[in-house]
Amino acid sequence: MSAQVIDGKAFAQEIRQGIAQDIEALVGQTGVRPGLAVVLVGDDPASAVYVRNKKKACDTAGLYVDDHTLPATATQEELLKLIDQLNADPRIHGILVQLPLPSQIDSPTVLNAVSPDKDADGFHPYNIGRLVTGDPLFVPCTPKGVMRMIESAGQTIEGKRAMVLGRSNIVGKPVAMLLMHRHATVTICHSRTKDLPGMCREADILVAAIGKAQFVKADMVKPGAVVIDVGINRLDDGRLVGDVDFEPVKEKAGWISPVPGGVGPMTIAMLLVNTLEAAKRAANG
Ligand code: NDP
Repeated sequence: MSAQVIDGKAFAQEIRQGIAQDIEALVGQTGVRPGLAVVLVGDDPASAVYVRNKKKACDTAGLYVDDHTLPATATQEELLKLIDQLNADPRIHGILVQLPLPSQIDSPTVLNAVSPDKDADGFHPYNIGRLVTGDPLFVPCTPKGVMRMIESAGQTIEGKRAMVLGRSNIVGKPVAMLLMHRHATVTICHSRTKDLPGMCREADILVAAIGKAQFVKADMVKPGAVVIDVGINRLDDGRLVGDVDFEPVKEKAGWISPVPGGVGPMTIAMLLVNTLEAAKRAANG
């Protein structure tokens, strides 16, 4: 039997509608409208598209958006000065610095300059530390979206074998932490892992985040598994595909998320959730 497709686009739309209602309720009760500052440096076309989509989602949901585009020649000092201003601005509850940054700017220095209270992406070491200890303030958006999608399959996570493919700081490691905190037994695989297909075959939950087109084949998937595809890859013919070979894997898995229309829209929805949660914390002192 074919897997149930976890429709991230529809799920994200539902979440965004709920956020819009929550925002109006918060404004009515406290006068505080959640505000997100979006900082883009340079003219990378992919980054410009991501930023445009994020801003559109914010506008539709009723967030206040403070938009800053700096030229590709901007210095680190200029960017740090802007971040200082945003850290001090009471209208702003979340600050998003779109990555990658131009080479003259040191990304860790910039991400560390964002106030941990406004770190809507959850990339600040303080927030990563809290995530590891199981007391998160901001959970990074993509991993948070992945968890919501896994939960939507309605299966118990506790005691399950989970496999995370990829060990990046922004996806693989936080997803693994979140699954472990939900009492899954988690294995993280990476480019040096031996017998990766054999390990994948044991996974009840498989999260692929390696950036290799259609890498996960049907013979690597346990029948009935929950398969979440984080990867975004462009094929030579222009098609956008994930890290999972979708059609054959769909015939083997129990649940599967597509690309496009899977984790991507959920990531944006979680940015709105994180900003709303930060605004609620600010409003409640
Ligand atoms: P990174 O490049 O930072 O990390 C990739 C990871 O995959 C590394 O840990 C690497 O291992 C591992 N890897 C690479 N090749 C292999 C292989 N052949 N076998 C096993 N492991 C491998 O990527 P990100 O985590 O930033 O992103 C992963 C994918 O997710 C990308 O396609 C990206 O575009 C997408 N993405 C999607 C988002 C969304 O919103 N939908 C958000 C963020 C990312 P090693 O550490 O050993 O090098």
